[in-house]
Formats: sequence, structure tokens, C-alpha cells
Amino acid sequence: MKRLTPRVFAILSALTAALASFNVYAAGGETVGWVSVRSQNFTVVGEAREKDLRRVAVRLEEFRSALARLLPEGPKDASAPTTVIVFRDDAAYQPFKPVLRGQTASYVAGYFQPGAEVNYITLALDSDWPRGPSSTLLHEYTHLLVNNYFRSAPLWLKEGLAEFYSTARLSKDRRRISTGAQLPDRVRQLRGAQLIPLRALFEIDQGSPYYYESGKRGLFYAQSWALAHFILNGDGGARRARLPRFVELLASGVAPADAFRQAFGFDVDAAEGALSAYVRLGVYAESTETYARPLDFDSQLRATAMSQAEGLALLGDLLLHTDRGEESEGYLTRALSLDSTLARARVSLGLLRLRQNRPDDARAELALAAHADPRNHLAHYLLADALNRGAGEAAQADRLSVKDFEERTELMRAELRAAIELAPDFPEGYRLLAKIEMERADRPDEAIALLRRAIQLAPRRHDLVLLTAQAYLFKGVFGEARRLAEPVAMYSAEPRMREQAAELLQRINAREQTAELQRSRADQAARLDASADAALNIQPCDMPLRGGPQYKRLRFEGEQTCGRLVAIECDDVGVTLRVESADKTLQLHADDLRSIRFVTYTAAVKTGRLVCGPRERAEQVLVTYKPKRNQQRATDGEALAVEFVPEDWKH
Ligand SMILES: [Zn+2]
Repeated sequence: MKRLTPRVFAILSALTAALASFNVYAAGGETVGWVSVRSQNFTVVGEAREKDLRRVAVRLEEFRSALARLLPEGPKDASAPTTVIVFRDDAAYQPFKPVLRGQTASYVAGYFQPGAEVNYITLALDSDWPRGPSSTLLHEYTHLLVNNYFRSAPLWLKEGLAEFYSTARLSKDRRRISTGAQLPDRVRQLRGAQLIPLRALFEIDQGSPYYYESGKRGLFYAQSWALAHFILNGDGGARRARLPRFVELLASGVAPADAFRQAFGFDVDAAEGALSAYVRLGVYAESTETYARPLDFDSQLRATAMSQAEGLALLGDLLLHTDRGEESEGYLTRALSLDSTLARARVSLGLLRLRQNRPDDARAELALAAHADPRNHLAHYLLADALNRGAGEAAQADRLSVKDFEERTELMRAELRAAIELAPDFPEGYRLLAKIEMERADRPDEAIALLRRAIQLAPRRHDLVLLTAQAYLFKGVFGEARRLAEPVAMYSAEPRMREQAAELLQRINAREQTAELQRSRADQAARLDASADAALNIQPCDMPLRGGPQYKRLRFEGEQTCGRLVAIECDDVGVTLRVESADKTLQLHADDLRSIRFVTYTAAVKTGRLVCGPRERAEQVLVTYKPKRNQQRATDGEALAVEFVPEDWKH
């Protein structure tokens, strides 16, 4: 966030002034300071009345228990703790709204920000209270829960479910929860609208204009809601029980359209027809769940007052996690000026320094944090991270001896073991220790064991799967590496993961080829060694019978011809080698020079700086190539290797 609008700036200044002078503000005559309310699954904080924060916490817990009934049995991803920050009104919320595509998203009334260390839900009290037909709070919370179960869900499903559950209402007797009430705005947006084709809807992500252009966003949300409604409450709720199956199919890599057909029995065209009919009809029925006992969460709440330093540290950390690092620094340093021993502010500042690529400064802050609060697992974890990042640069600059390197590695291990002991459900600790065992200590088996524990905690995280594949690659177990990486490359809903997996597969293939080549060379060498008679070597263009300047061995497999390399022609379709032999001129193609192996057996030729163009000296070469299969190509085949041989070797 680089630019502040005058209005935001004014609000920020006013807020800053208020925070600097008093720990409190007056709400309807009541004096209010920072308060934290803890329930079983949430920490709800704000500069707000305790009773408002309690209502937020209770509503979230009620809702959680209702929504949990829908979600599949079995493992879910361990989530970072969830902190809900409640702002007293939209004006107070404004400076903390997320920045999307470089601009403050002024239109949001609440936001969910997932993170490795903490999840934040933010919202303004007056936008959600008194409750309207739908609730930002519930919308945002649905995101959190769906993420834990179904990390790589497509955007339409995440937003559709969030919209659907945003209208959930608990009855007065606390025994019945209703879902699926109409959203008047969404119904209006759908009326007479040309629906987005389902194949397109399935592909929409955060980079799509449907998500970030205000003119299109409305229809995207409305149609996502309608489709979720069609699945959950349509046909008397008959399809509802199939949703977990759909979710499972997508997670296991089935393409969206196929998953939809397998789970709900509609192919895409039929589903499109059924959805438009559903929207045209416009009867969005509600459904009700009944509980045997009334839901009671009030009695489990614990409220505590927070210091102003803690409040500022929290706001700073929120800004840091919503991509507003520059603004976060002011809050964090003010928090520390009020309480220099506040570990959580130092942890956030350390994380900020890491993001700013200042590992040494990060290390200093994090060491102070770990000292101030030895039980803060993030301090230990991030300290190891900072040590790891700083260490790379030092080693490159040759400033680090082997002994220093090993001591540094041991220090990282100690910090990470402390982090894991303090927070055994925090997958990042295992992940980072695995990376360090693999990259710094050459211990892939330790890495695999650690990653197995991380994956137990977060079975849907593809980055952990790819890291495990890397460890197998490191060990040379190519088959297992490929088995792990392939499904991610093909089916992950996260484009970045698909790219990383594809790159990893290329590396696996390249490493495997090299390994095979080495093996076959070793075999070949063994065979040739077994035969004392070098005359058995049937290569053309071979060395003299009684030993040449070097002992040349058959190195490449394919068609071979001895001749003179007269030109290397390069153009936009690749490289063509022209080799003149006794009876013809061969034209051999390659995608680029790097895909041909050049070897020299003569001091007269250096292969280090081959350039495109005619070869002045038309050197004698043994060329190995794959004869062409494709008649349409004007070449004789694909060049594999060029070996420069001395002039006096026989033809
Ligand atoms: Zn949303």
C-alpha cells in the first residue's frame, strides 16, 4: 500500500492520535479499551465492548458446530489459530482493509486472511450488527472452515458456500439452525442476467476479472451462491450429502466437470440447464437442522483486558499479514516503545525484516523475542528461518568455514526442535526442519520422516507433497518422486503448485536420464574393458588400431556418420547441422545447441564456444543422430551428439 487517500489518511491520523493519547474510547457513554474474548476455537479481540465481542464469539461457535455437520468425516488440515479483530465501525476498519491488486478494497465489510502462523478475520461491528439478512462474519468464517477441509477448492465453491452460510440463523431456543435464506441482492443480480457458462465459472480464480472488477464481481458471487444453493438445498436437499464426495473428487485431482458429473450426476451442459431453470424459478428454499440439546457457548467464554501495546502489536501484525508491511512497522515500533518486552511485537517485527530480506536484522529481533518469551514457538521457528536465510549469503561470500556451517545448522535444529515441542500441531516447524536436513545436511531420510508428520497434520498441502518428492529425488528414488509430483502437476487447483510440480518432474526426468547414461556408460566401459581387442569397436571414424591420442569409447547410441561439419545454421525453428560425408550431405536438426552433446578428442577444437554460422575449418566429426520419422521435415534426423576427432583417425 503506497498511496493513502486523503480520507483514509485523515482517519488513520485521527485513529493514531486517539491511540497515542488514550487507551480507551467512549462508546455510547461507555468507556472501552482493548479486550480479548476467548472461546473454544477463537480469539475475538477489539477496542470494543466486551458484550459485543462475546456475541461475535458465540455466533461463530454456534455457526461452527452447524457447518461442521456438512463437512466430511476424517482428517482435516490443522489450522493456525484464528484471531478475529473487530473494529467498532467502518471508519475504524478502513485503514486495515486488505490491499487487493495494489488498492485498498474499500468495499469489503469483512475479510478472511489465511496465514501459516495465524488466520485473521476482520470486520466492522456496525456492518454486521444488528444482523442483516446476511453476515460478513459468517461469510468470512465459512472461508476458514472450508479452507481447512478443502484448501484447493475452486473460488466459486468457496464464495458460494460462504454466501450460502452467511444467512445461517439459530432459533431462539437454540435448538434449530436454518440455512439457505434468500439473499435479496444476489437474487436481484441474477434476475435477467446472462449466466456465466459453467466451464468458465469453474475456472475463475483471484486473477480473473470476475473476481476483481466491480462490474462483474456481483454476478460471479450471485451465481456461485445460486449454484451452492442448488447443490445444498435444491431438490429437497437430495444433493447435499454428495457435496463431500465432490470435494473429495476435486482434491484427488479429478477435473471439475468430471467431478461434478460423478458426484451430482449432471454433465456440464445438463447442469447449466438445471441451474438456469433453478434461477428462473427463483424459489430458494430454506432448510433447518435440529439439535437434541440447545447449543450453549456463552458459559465457556473467557474475557481479559489487553494492554494498549498488545492492541497495537496485533494491528501491526494484521497489516503485515495483509500485505501492508510498510504501515505495520509504525504500529510495531509504537507497541515496543510502550512495552519493550512484548515478544509478539518483536516476532512480528522479525517476520517483517524477513520479508524485507534483512535476515540479520530479523535474527536480532527474533533472538530478543525468544529471550523475552521462551514459550513463543513462532520466535523459535522464525529465528531458525532467519538463520537459514542469512547463512546462505555468508557461505557464498566464503565467510563461513565448514565448522561454522555445521554449528549454524545445529543451531537451526535446536530452534526448530524447540518450536516443534512447544507447538506439535504446527506443520511449518517440521517443514523447515525437513528442508534443512535435506539441503544443509544431506539427510533425505530424516527429511522424509519429518514431512510425513507435517502431512499428517495438513494432508491437503501440495507444497509438502512436492518437498517429499524432492527428498526422494535427492535419494535417487525416481519412481516414488514421480508418483508424488505427477498428480500435483496435473490436478492441483493452485497454478503455482502445478508449475512447481511440472518443473520438478523435468528435474526428475533429467536426473534419471543422467543416472541411466552413467549406468550404461559404466556397462559399456566394462564390456570394452573385457574385450582386449579394440578392433572390435565398429564405430566409423575411429581411432587408429594402435591407440590414438586418447582412448575413445562408444559413447552415444544412434545412427552414426563420419564427415565434416561445414555449418551450424540457427534460425527460429532451431539449429541445423550440415555434415558432409563421402557420399552425401546430412542436414540434422536440434531445438537448440544445448540439446546436442559436443565432445572433442582433439586439441585443435574447443567446444566451449560454439557459434552459429559456417565452420571455417570444416572439422572432422563423428555425428550421432536419430533418423527422422517425419517425412515432412526437410532434415535427415535429430542430432544427438557431435564428436570432434583428429584428422589422422581412419574413416
Ligand atoms: Zn468471500
